[in-house]
Formats: sequence, C-alpha cells, structure tokens
Amino acid sequence: MRGYFNSLLGAFPGREVVKVVKSPEAARDVRTRTRGRVVLVPTMGALHEAHAALFRRARKLAGEKGKVIVSLFVNPLQFGPREDYAGYPRSPVRDLEICRACGVDLAFAPTARQMYRSDRSVFVDEISLSRHLCGASRPGHFSGVCTVVAKLFLILRPDIAVFGEKDWQQLCIIRKMVKDLSFSIRVVGHPTIREADGLAISSRNKYLTSEERAVAPRIYSALRAAIERRRVREIVRTGRRLIEEIPGAKLDYLELVEAETIEPARDLRRPARLAAAVFLGKARLIDNVAVPPRA
Ligand code: AMP
Repeated sequence: MRGYFNSLLGAFPGREVVKVVKSPEAARDVRTRTRGRVVLVPTMGALHEAHAALFRRARKLAGEKGKVIVSLFVNPLQFGPREDYAGYPRSPVRDLEICRACGVDLAFAPTARQMYRSDRSVFVDEISLSRHLCGASRPGHFSGVCTVVAKLFLILRPDIAVFGEKDWQQLCIIRKMVKDLSFSIRVVGHPTIREADGLAISSRNKYLTSEERAVAPRIYSALRAAIERRRVREIVRTGRRLIEEIPGAKLDYLELVEAETIEPARDLRRPARLAAAVFLGKARLIDNVAVPPRA
C-alpha cells in the first residue's frame, strides 16, 4: 500500500500547486470569492493513505467545477492535559504534496493562535452522544472537536464535509451538531481505510514499536470475531477477552452501541456499532465495526 501510495504521489499530476492560507480572515476571503460547490475535509495533518482516500472522495463530490478544501490543524482544544498534543506527528511539507496529488484546491493551515483568541469564552458542546465511548474517557474532547469544526464550517462555509467512519462517534456528533445548529451542510461519512493486515490507518500508528505494530491488527480481528456471536453480552465479552489477550494491550473501552445515538445497545434489532479504544505502548488506538440488525 505504501509503495503504491508513494508512486501515486510522483505519478499523479494532481493540481499544479495547492493554494495555502493561514489566517481565518484570508480563508474567509478566498471562500467568499469561490464559486461552485465547496467540499471540506477537516484533518489534523500528518496525512496518510486514509486522508488521501477522503480527499479523492471529496474531489468526486466537488465535481469538475467545485473546490476541495482541506484544513490542516492540530486542534489543542480536543486534547486533554496529559494527552499527546505537543508530540502529535506533524509533516507539513509532505502534507501539501499529498494534497496536491489528490487534487485539493486549498489548504487552510492556521496556527492555534490564529484560530483561538486568548480571551475565548464560547464553546460548542454536544451533550448526549458525547457522554459515551471516547467522550467518557476523554473529558472535553468532543467539545474541542465541535468547537473547531463549527469554526471551520463558519469560516469556510462548505456545501459538503467529509469525515471518516474510523471516528464513528465523531461522525455522529458532527451530524447531530449540523442538525441541531441548522448548518446547511451535507455530512458524508467515508468507510474506514485499513492496512493490508486490517489495522485501521491512523497518524498515531507512528507511535507503535515493531512489536506493537505486529500485534495491533488483532484489535480489528477481535471486533470481527466478536460480532459473530449472537447476543449483546457475548459480543462484548468476547471482544474484551480477545483484546485483553493481545500482548502489551490495555483496554480503554469496548462497547456495543446503537449506531446513531451511541446509547448502549440492549439488543440487535437496530443498526449497532462495536467500538473499542486500546492503549498499545504510547498509542491509544480506536476502531469500530458495523453490526447490522438481526431478526
Ligand atoms: P485526523 O487527521 O486523524 O483528525 O482525521 C481527519 C479525518 O480523516 C477524520 O474525519 C477521520 O475520521 C478521517 N480518518 C482518519 N483515519 C481514517 C481511516 N483509517 N479511515 C477513514 N477515515 C479516516
């Protein structure tokens, strides 16, 4: 996959250059002058193959005349005090290469100071879906996510925004925010992109040692094996056991939730999602799989 991706970078003509803007004011000006459909893909940079897949999806959604905007911003608000904000991988030069190769028109790459006034006092909070999963183990995380995404939506006024299903809870919370705050933006979810061995691609995979990387695909295989079980309790118990058996892994959570509300699933009559977060060495990895309704 990586070899293929690198050859794509060299071979695909893409756009000649990607326009880069840093300040929210400049980004708003460019947006105001943009005609046609605008498709936004918010990212925290350190771009990889999965981001590239989202950009290509965005390119298709934008069509010939539309524009694809990518934001590259490591958002301090969504990191807890003991989390990896300072050490989060950053690769600004390669990021722009990937944007160019995928046909991105505009990269919005503000600094934290440009995005947030030092006297800021307004946040966007989602208070229902955020009580579960990552919201429970990372207090304030989704407030940071909603606040930054709302700002991006207001600055860039996209017609469509693309988010990955790897962050399933985030995708649902953004959909809810769009509905509740009446943004006229279509939110498109893109399926999880995986390495050949099943590991969901993530910027945080860079933190893994070779031993940890070798066992990391067992998170996805545990989820897949667990959803073969027939009852909610068995699914959860099997998933937790298989993850706890992974050498060096520490389970943060594994829950079966209703796909849209993120409430704990009581039965399998409605679409559900089996989601897990796992500490493996320095990395906290998340993944999830769909559990279609059963008769
Ligand atoms: P991030 O830069 O990690 O904040 O991710 C930016 C966007 O890419 C989010 O919408 C993520 O859900 C999405 N994304 C990251 N990794 C993957 C993946 N492996 N498959 C699909 N989407 C992804």
